[in-house]
Amino acid sequence: MHDAAVPEPGQTGALAPDWLPLPDDPNDLAPGVWPASARRDDDGALIVAGVAAPELAREFGTPVQVLDEDEVRSRAREALRAFGDAAARHGGRARVYYAGKAFLSAEVARWMVESGLNVDVCSIGELEVALAAGVPAARIGFHGNNKRVFELERAIETGVGTIVVDSEIEIERLAAITERLDRRQAVLVRVNSGVHAETHHFLATAHEDQKFGFTLEAAHRAAERIHELPLVDLAGLHSHIGSQIFGVDGFREAASRVLELLALLREEGRFTAESADGAVEPVLNLGGGFGIAYTRADTPTPIGELAAGIVDAVADECAVRGIPLPVLAFEPGRSIVGTAGVTLYEVGTTKSVSVDTGSGPAERRYVSVDGGMSDNARPALYGAQYSARLASREGAGAPVLSRVVGLHCESGDVVVDHEYLPGDVTPGDLLAVPATGAYCAPLASNYNHIPRPPVVAVTGGRARVIVRGERIEDLLARDTGIRPAAAAAPTREGEE
Ligand SMILES: *Cc1c(COP(=O)(O)O)cnc(C)c1O
Repeated sequence: MHDAAVPEPGQTGALAPDWLPLPDDPNDLAPGVWPASARRDDDGALIVAGVAAPELAREFGTPVQVLDEDEVRSRAREALRAFGDAAARHGGRARVYYAGKAFLSAEVARWMVESGLNVDVCSIGELEVALAAGVPAARIGFHGNNKRVFELERAIETGVGTIVVDSEIEIERLAAITERLDRRQAVLVRVNSGVHAETHHFLATAHEDQKFGFTLEAAHRAAERIHELPLVDLAGLHSHIGSQIFGVDGFREAASRVLELLALLREEGRFTAESADGAVEPVLNLGGGFGIAYTRADTPTPIGELAAGIVDAVADECAVRGIPLPVLAFEPGRSIVGTAGVTLYEVGTTKSVSVDTGSGPAERRYVSVDGGMSDNARPALYGAQYSARLASREGAGAPVLSRVVGLHCESGDVVVDHEYLPGDVTPGDLLAVPATGAYCAPLASNYNHIPRPPVVAVTGGRARVIVRGERIEDLLARDTGIRPAAAAAPTREGEE
């Protein structure tokens, strides 16, 4: 029955993008795209960290966001080692901050601290999660172009290690708050270097047209102003040039521009912060943005190589200017958690759509799953590409070009735009989408009143919820026009 409806691979391939080759085996797990622990068991089911996909679906329902704990931890340690070793080869030091916005929960924050990383936050909510997780405040960095006064107060009161200053107005707020609370605060000045990088390309202009940071000239003035403030200490400079970056060149260009300012400020004696670990050299924080593989077409540079390339480039630029290597800092988010995440969905419906290619009709199969843009907004938001595999079993039949879509009332509700899936994908199958550990759960919404899925950590054959899923009751509870049935006539203990 399926065979009649399944298009020939040649025909189906007419709609495939160039980067997606017809696979020999549409059940294979592309190396680098999945967690290192991912494999298939004897029944052909996907297992991650020793836990089989059907078990996860039974226990936690679908969709479920699965996070391979060991993958996260080992990537965190690897990043720290890569940047630390690279800096040590030049007699320097490097700190690594995990960019919490990629995915933050108390457990993940603790994994980071245990792995030797610091944690970056960019809102009161992220700050409170990090503090509640027990991250020492001194190991927290605080970002944002519009940190509100109460957020700055909370950060300074709790002793956050570094605030990354983003505007002149913020500097004046910091001046007022540090005086009012009588607390010292170390800051970095965020520089808009005019370099923006994405994947293989970077663009360098005089000023990048975006909202973050100070131009180089404005950053110089900001440093002078900070120098006048009795309780605000300038610890260094910050630059973040983009995300999903595969090469060194954009970092080198940004570092070169920022180091020119750093050398000048150093000569002027503007760096006054003495860090907890006794650093006397200023900090150069080059941000994050290290790329990962979303599909087999992505070939990111291994972090060790990237770290060495970036740090060597910074060391070269320092040598040219005759200054010692600053204390380096980096802020990876995606490259720590992205590959550790796998989202499991259940297939609900499939249908074949005939598309006119201009040179004859071609078939595209739509595979609808029980989630979508509410648990992964990235395809709709950025046109992000993902891949998918059957997770409950190995499929049979010739590979069919498929588009995995969600259940939302929105035609842009795409989960995986282009993927070859086995010909016999059918309702009730589990589908796994890899590389969903970063920027999926944090961007999740309740669109169409769909509850957000749980996040489940897997390690050593065990699974546990680290962020519980929402229930319909959670959604109803926010709607003040609904009288909760159970609480219609509330009685408290001891009350009649
Ligand atoms: C988003 C962001 C990061 C992390 O980016 P990734 O692409 O997840 O590594 C780091 N630093 C700053 C300032 C950011 O805005």
